[in-house]
Amino acid sequence: MKLSQRVQTITPSYTIGISTKVKALKSEGKSIIDLSIGEPDFFTPEKAKLEGIDAIARNESKYDMVPGLMALRKAIVNKLKTENGVDYEVTDIVVSSGAKHAITNTLLAILDPGDEVIVPKPYWTSYPEMIKLCGGIPVLVDTKIENQFKLTLEELKNAVTPKTKMLLINNPSNPTGAVYTKSELEPLVNLCIEKDLFILADEIYERICYTDDFTSIASISPEAKAITVVINGLSKSVAMTGWRIGYTASSPEIAKAISTIQGHLVSHPSIVSQWAGAAALTDCLDDMTQMVSEYKLRRDLLVETLRKIDHVTFIQPDGAFYLFMDLSYYKDKFNAEDSLSLQICDDLLTQYDLAVVPGIAFGNDHCIRLSYATELSLVQEGLSRIKTYLSQL
Ligand code: PMP
Repeated sequence: MKLSQRVQTITPSYTIGISTKVKALKSEGKSIIDLSIGEPDFFTPEKAKLEGIDAIARNESKYDMVPGLMALRKAIVNKLKTENGVDYEVTDIVVSSGAKHAITNTLLAILDPGDEVIVPKPYWTSYPEMIKLCGGIPVLVDTKIENQFKLTLEELKNAVTPKTKMLLINNPSNPTGAVYTKSELEPLVNLCIEKDLFILADEIYERICYTDDFTSIASISPEAKAITVVINGLSKSVAMTGWRIGYTASSPEIAKAISTIQGHLVSHPSIVSQWAGAAALTDCLDDMTQMVSEYKLRRDLLVETLRKIDHVTFIQPDGAFYLFMDLSYYKDKFNAEDSLSLQICDDLLTQYDLAVVPGIAFGNDHCIRLSYATELSLVQEGLSRIKTYLSQL
């Protein structure tokens, strides 16, 4: 008996692998500092939690509309208009079980077997596997640290072939924290319009941004909006990872296709989560602002400390809660046959009780990713362990 070819082409998630290792070490009594985590250390705001509890008490426990509760979709439309400057109708929105689900729904709705999707490197670890699962071919395009790991027009032009169907842009980026300015996005978007390409704009970290530079791709022009599927959700911005609420905003045709797919696969995310999500979007703005200022404090500390460590290269993250450090200076100290970033992360975990994610998980083996979605004192201690480790290499 054989499993499908589809499943044989994909690799398990590195990040989930690391968290499994960390859990095992913790259960052996080790005190691990975990800077590998991709989720906020904050709790879901009170008002969202209370609305969830109230929804259960009101017996909100039946099937509802496939694309999502009207109250939540209205709150999303309002958010996209007031915060991102894009006008959508409620029927353009489909609420899914997290942004992961929103992305796979979109890929299933748009890709035919063999279609190419351009993904700038470094990329969030799940993109290539998601694309393959949906029958597409990920085309991974190198970017340069001098350009803050942002895709340039030249790099995009060189990657487009007659088979290209879509450009996937993650802004702000996991793992680099880079945020594209409007003038950096415009030429990329114009080329996609010219070449008839869709854009999947994963903007899940958009609210966790420390500059005024963020522009939602769909807000650039009506033509940009027509070809773009915006991906967003509540996991990161409102600390609601476990509630599993993500969404797409797109043209009505794409929304209808996504809804048809979702109708057969899962119907809709938990109704209780959707009620809590509606409250999060309307009543928890202050909580979000507080979380972002705390992330910014940690970001500033990280950047300040790392600037004082020799031979470490990185870009200052302007968004999300990650920092991507280039350690290629040390490569001669390691076995050239094996992955550099895996060897470094393994040393840090086994010798320094510090968990970080190897860059190989994001398509760049010279780097490691630190997450600062962790208490400030732990971020500080993690950094001091990295400093000691590097000084002993
Ligand atoms: N996109 C990116 C870039 C992410 O980092 C993540 C979570 N790590 C997701 C999507 C998925 O988020 P969700 O919890 O909403 O599925």
